[in-house]
Amino acid sequence: MALTTGQGVLGIHHITAMAGVAQTNVDFYAGVLGLRLVKKTVNFDAPDVYHFYYGDGVGRPGTLFTTFPFGEGPRGGTGAGQATVVSFSVRPDSVGYWVERLGRFGVRVSGPEDRDGGRQVLSFRDPDGIALELVAHPGAEARPGWPEGPVPAEHSIRGFHGVTVKVRDIGPTAAVLTELLGFRLVGQRGPRYRYEVGEGGAGRRIDVIAQEGAPYGRNSIGTVHHIAWRVADEGELRRWRTRLMNAGLRVTDVMDRNYFKSVYFREPGGVLFELATDPPGFLIDEPEAALGTSLKLPDWLEPRRAQLEAVLPPVRVGGGEGA
Ligand code: ZN
Repeated sequence: MALTTGQGVLGIHHITAMAGVAQTNVDFYAGVLGLRLVKKTVNFDAPDVYHFYYGDGVGRPGTLFTTFPFGEGPRGGTGAGQATVVSFSVRPDSVGYWVERLGRFGVRVSGPEDRDGGRQVLSFRDPDGIALELVAHPGAEARPGWPEGPVPAEHSIRGFHGVTVKVRDIGPTAAVLTELLGFRLVGQRGPRYRYEVGEGGAGRRIDVIAQEGAPYGRNSIGTVHHIAWRVADEGELRRWRTRLMNAGLRVTDVMDRNYFKSVYFREPGGVLFELATDPPGFLIDEPEAALGTSLKLPDWLEPRRAQLEAVLPPVRVGGGEGA
């Protein structure tokens, strides 16, 4: 495996999870966490299931948590070969606000816990059991949030802080991260290896927990499905695809995801990675003011709209308690 350019990926693009009931998912991510539902579309590979994209005001890459809400169904189990914790950024002075807010919605919170030299971390789970963190750190205020949601602008979530994955063996995963994707090891404590890419910091970080013999996770409701990393454009995406294939990884064809183009591959530890382009973004089929308000379908699914609308459960943002 050899790095063919000095360029790495640009950070986290989006993180996608398998969820349960659609309205419960919207109520939590939009209603409680105050992310903006920037796109209500369908899983392009299984269009009778929604695909929700939550993010900042315009759905910038690096802020996008996305879900496939399958309704009632069997829960998965987290383990090796999966992302196990998704971390979001908030301002340092937002910790008290979030302790109170999450408590008010009945979310059981651990912390605040001091970590990484004074950063305060709140840990909790979403309604399907996905482990989430809010990491309070200086610099979070420089990133945009969603100022018009139910969370006051100053306390709004400012995109991803990072993601934690679990593997059985650090070696092969480390090789893909450092020799191919451009990450560097910035710290290690016990089984936890921290990698950063580019300028590092929030949104450009992954923690890998290496645990020999750890049971593999089962992907179903309540687990993270994949992590997508940012690349600049389609030309870069195609160069990345060649580079990954030359390194012996099995990579999909370039997929048109309407709001970005992407390829998928499994890193050797079993975690599904995607590379996704920054453009064209979420304003291509809805004006900013209307993001997420109506069901958007790619052109090739428009002929099936009536059929899909008949099977997708209606959902609304702001159905529950407000600020
Ligand atoms: Zn994706």
